[in-house]
Parts: sequence; structure tokens; C-alpha cells
Amino acid sequence: MAVSGNLATFRLPPLPTIGDIIKLFNLRAERQLSQNFLLDLRLTDKIVRKAGKLRDAYVLEVGPGPGGITRSILNADITKLLVVEKDTRFIPGLKMLEEAAPGKIQIVHGDILTYKVEKAFPKSLRKNWENDPPDVHIIGNLPFSVSTHLIIKWLENVASRDGPFTYGRTQMTLTFQKEVAEVDVGVVHFTPLINPQIEQPFKLVEKVVQSVFQFRRKYCHRGVAILFPEAERLQRTEEMLMRADVDPTLRPYELSIPQFKSLCDVYRGLCEENSALFPYNFREELRQKKMMKRSRKYIDEEDEE
Ligand code: SAM
Repeated sequence: MAVSGNLATFRLPPLPTIGDIIKLFNLRAERQLSQNFLLDLRLTDKIVRKAGKLRDAYVLEVGPGPGGITRSILNADITKLLVVEKDTRFIPGLKMLEEAAPGKIQIVHGDILTYKVEKAFPKSLRKNWENDPPDVHIIGNLPFSVSTHLIIKWLENVASRDGPFTYGRTQMTLTFQKEVAEVDVGVVHFTPLINPQIEQPFKLVEKVVQSVFQFRRKYCHRGVAILFPEAERLQRTEEMLMRADVDPTLRPYELSIPQFKSLCDVYRGLCEENSALFPYNFREELRQKKMMKRSRKYIDEEDEE
């Protein structure tokens, strides 16, 4: 008799609820690790559905904690789930899941910021960048203390096609706390594009975007200005915004991707004209000015004596 596809689908056996697990292992949320736990399995199922089709996929979960999202991923009939958790207190609870889903889950006690994702899954999963995304997914309810750092690191990995993107255009489904995703908790699904919208080196794009957002509620010319040394700041800021055709009175969050592209392209041109411009660091200039001021004050005081 043929076995129907549905009968072969994996489901976790009945388990204690996430609330029970938290009580059983005394898992208080630690503020310094930005922990908050998702207890409602309907919500975690909804987050996991945002990842798209997971059947037979290889999944990396960041910070599984007591395992709510982990259960939803396991119920999505994946081939392999690798979880990376920094806090040892969660390991016994995760081991319970390991017993309930034999051979499906691998627990890594470690830090996602240093974990080598490129070595996590078989090489046979790798696909060419131009092909459809590989059967590799990253999912996580990110601790906000590390989310900004992590996402910038992974965006740089997208640009250089290494780290998690050694496998190709690996998809990521990540939950961000308010501010980053502009709601209390937002789920963002990323699929890297075949061709970047801004064809400039990652470090240059990062510098322009970071500078513009330095004063996120002010007009964008304030942030653009810190790309230039004080002596030429006014003139260069005006020139850059004019050449990029960007209205100086827009707020950073009002700028479109084509406007950022235009700013990056013009800045690249200015850096090519003046090789000292890209290494210029606004904070360093400020620090040196303060030191000069302090030593001048010290010399003046000595003169008075
Ligand atoms: N995924 C769980 C949920 O949704 O209920 C927990 C989410 S909680 C916001 C973040 C989790 O990430 C915690 O379990 C925390 O211990 C873990 N974590 C924090 N920093 C980490 C890091 N650098 N690497 C791996 N896990 C980390």
C-alpha cells in the first residue's frame, strides 16, 4: 500500500507547554541578554510561516531560548534544525526537544556572533548566487542587544557572499524589537537580491547610511555633513546633495533607496578625487579638537602661574 505524503509528515509528540518548561527549569528572562519569550504557539507558527516553504529545509535558529519557535520549525517538516543558544540555562529544555525529534535537531551552546554558519550544513546544499535560494534558512527572535550588530554583519556577508551566504541566497526570517522594525515586534523576511540595488563597496554604503542616520530626526544634510572635514564641510555637503539631487530638508527615514544610491555614487566620486576623504572620521576629528582645547587650556593656566 502506498504511504500518502501527509502520513509521512513529522509532528512533535505531546510535550509540556513552553510556560511549563519555563517553570520546570526556572527560566527567568534575563534583562542583560534582552530575553523575552514567545509562549503562544499560534504566534510562533505564524512567524515560521513567514519563512515560506520549509519542508526538507536545513534551518539555523538563533537564540531558541525555551523553544517556542523551535517547536514550530520542527513541525514544519524540516530535514535538520541547528539551534545556537548562548545561555546554558536553556540547554536542558532544548534536550527534551532533541529526544522528541530524534536526529532532527542539533544543539550548539555558543555565540551567534562568532559561530561559523558556513560550516554548519553540508556543502551539497550550495547553489549558485544567480539560482533560486538554497534549502537553507535562518530564523530567529533576535535578542535586541545583538540584533543591529548581527544584521550589519550578515548584510556584509551578503555583499561578500560568505558566512551564511556561502550556500547562495540564504533566506532569513527575523523578529526585531521596536525601533528596528518600527513596531513592538516585527517579522522581517529577507531574500538577497541577485544584483544589489547600490553597486558600491559595502563599507562605503555603510559609511554613508550610518552618517545620514547619525541624526535620524533632523534634516538629512546634518548627517551628510559629517562625511567631510570641518574646514570644507559646508561647501562639500551642499555640493554632494546637489550632485545627488537630494533635498537637504528630507529626514533620513524619508530618503528612498534610489536617493541613497545617488548619495553613495556621488560620495564614491568625491573619494576618488580626494583619497583622504574615505578614511576621514568625524569622531576622530572631534576627539583631536577636544584634546587640543584641553592642552591649550593647560598651557594658558601654566602661563598665568
Ligand atoms: N527564541 C525565544 C523565543 O522567541 O521565545 C527566545 C527569544 S529571546 C528575545 C533571545 C534569545 O537569544 C535568548 O534565549 C538568549 O539567551 C539568546 N541569545 C542572546 N544573545 C545570543 C547570542 N549572542 N548568541 C546566541 N544566542 C543568544
